[in-house]
Amino acid sequence: MSWCRFRNLGVLVGSLWGLVAAAQPWIHPIAGRPLSSGVFGELRTNHLHSGLDYRTGSEIGVPILAVANGHVARIKTSATGYGLALYLDHPGGYTTVYAHLDRYASPIAEWMKARHYQYIQFELDMALKPHELPVKQGQIIGYSGNSGGSGGPHLHFEVRHTLSEDILNPQHFGLRLIDHAAPFVQSIQLVQIPGIGYSDEVLGRTVLYPDQEPAAKVRSKKKRKGKRSSKRKRTASNPLRKPNPTKATYLLTSEGYPVDTLKHPTHLLRYPAYLELMARDRQDSNELTTGVYRIVILQNRDTVYDFRADRFHFDQTRYGNSVMDYLARIKDRSQKHRCQRSPGNLLTMYGNTMRNGLLFPSGQGQMDSVQAWCYDFNDNSIGYGFTIAPDTLGPSTTKPYLPRSHAPHQGLSRTVGGFKVNLPPGTVYDSISLQIKALPVGRGAVSQHEYLLHDPRIPVHQAFEVCLPAKPGRLHPGLRNKVLLRTRGLSGQIAHLTGRWEGDHYHAQAKMFGRLDLVLDTVPPTIRSLLKPKELRRQRGQSLYFRIQDGMAGIADYRFCAGDAWILPAYDAKNNLLQIRLDECIPLGKQSMELLVTDKVGNSRVHRFPLEIEDFAQPTDNTSKP
Ligand SMILES: [Zn+2]
Repeated sequence: MSWCRFRNLGVLVGSLWGLVAAAQPWIHPIAGRPLSSGVFGELRTNHLHSGLDYRTGSEIGVPILAVANGHVARIKTSATGYGLALYLDHPGGYTTVYAHLDRYASPIAEWMKARHYQYIQFELDMALKPHELPVKQGQIIGYSGNSGGSGGPHLHFEVRHTLSEDILNPQHFGLRLIDHAAPFVQSIQLVQIPGIGYSDEVLGRTVLYPDQEPAAKVRSKKKRKGKRSSKRKRTASNPLRKPNPTKATYLLTSEGYPVDTLKHPTHLLRYPAYLELMARDRQDSNELTTGVYRIVILQNRDTVYDFRADRFHFDQTRYGNSVMDYLARIKDRSQKHRCQRSPGNLLTMYGNTMRNGLLFPSGQGQMDSVQAWCYDFNDNSIGYGFTIAPDTLGPSTTKPYLPRSHAPHQGLSRTVGGFKVNLPPGTVYDSISLQIKALPVGRGAVSQHEYLLHDPRIPVHQAFEVCLPAKPGRLHPGLRNKVLLRTRGLSGQIAHLTGRWEGDHYHAQAKMFGRLDLVLDTVPPTIRSLLKPKELRRQRGQSLYFRIQDGMAGIADYRFCAGDAWILPAYDAKNNLLQIRLDECIPLGKQSMELLVTDKVGNSRVHRFPLEIEDFAQPTDNTSKP
């Protein structure tokens, strides 16, 4: 029954996507052979990758094309996130998003520049009516860049359902990548629960694949490929060859039969357990790898886990924390897919299975066969199979763990001393027993204590309110507006957050478990001009650059004026770089220039210098970018 329902849904969704494609086949947003550096649904810190990343050959300025007819519905400029982004609405109810652009193309560029000067602001989020900026399929709408939170020049491209804001896998819209090779698996681990539920804190973790040291991985992979083709013939003649019950990992053919036995120690297991899998995919002629499209886990041929990167709602992106081994991600940025769906994980990218990835013993003392399959979007697949010998001692010997009183769907408020925390329903993915410890306050901190709130190894899904009492006598009343909540998690996860006072208690929204205290920020941002010391003259068409930085609160505002005239800046937060294009709006002649930078608690710094502006010498910006 459930299988039928899932299948029908697939047919329905498939036909909807088919309809769109039939109305006007979409084109890729970049000319030439499409190569991707990131696909839909990949695991990232605090989010799931929501689009398709197109490679631009490490270059900035590659023309970006409208994939279909439509109109510009939204233009957003930001120093973080998507940077310079464009949103097009298309007939059929879909929106496409183009992010990390270097600049917009005409006439969009002129439209947006007028808005910047109208609102005297670089960071803007503008909604447009259909008649304002219509676009035709193939029209150049902008040029690729590295703006916002981008980690290198590329185009981030997204498809959304306009009304629901569901984010969809762009490859369903005919934007296919050329890919003939199966994904490859880097590691498979069997993770035993209970325990803390993540990474090496669990009670048992068995490496099923590979046996080799990481250094030997590449070589062994090639060898395996060779073996695979020769052994496939052999198995084809004897498809019913039984897996070796004591050894264990097999590379599978598409029919699920083993073709190659890999050396492996016998693994004993205390149930329940789940698999953790690292897998990548490679498109033709692409030296970069991307994530896989689908992961299916079978136990004795029953599907116990089925993750498929088709669509999720905009609000669900942080469930990525629960799909991955969060601790491993924080420690070394690895993307380990946790093939178990936690009770608090409401992501809509799972097939209908009763087991949420958990492996249970099927019978007393019986061997269980488990298969792990990875697919790319073109249905190329790779599968591994192994058998599990259940521990004869049974689950009763597992170490007792803390009773977990708080389920993910429940809200929870707790007060310890003057410290309060309020977790709304849906904050955690797995049940926890919330722990709070008051520790001696560190030097410079102005809270009564430093508080250890639960465990920083546990990811949280959303912001929650905390309230910390100030240490009596430690905080000068004049400095109350310079206070920040400092949260510290694992290995360099540190955040300074602004909040509000209620009496002697400071309220703020935290987004991670870990150490919390209150600190003072009285230090204004720093400004470093990249203008040469004796440079007193610049021409229109050139740019000025400044490094601006703030240690704690973060930069809230930046204004650049030439005399009385406000000049449009472009701020790139990840590089602490502020660019001022000396455009036609800047007055000619000798000027007093002023840059004012303010942080989120109102500390500000001004940098003033004289500069003479001459008229355009060349039409383009010839200042070398730092
Ligand atoms: Zn992207």
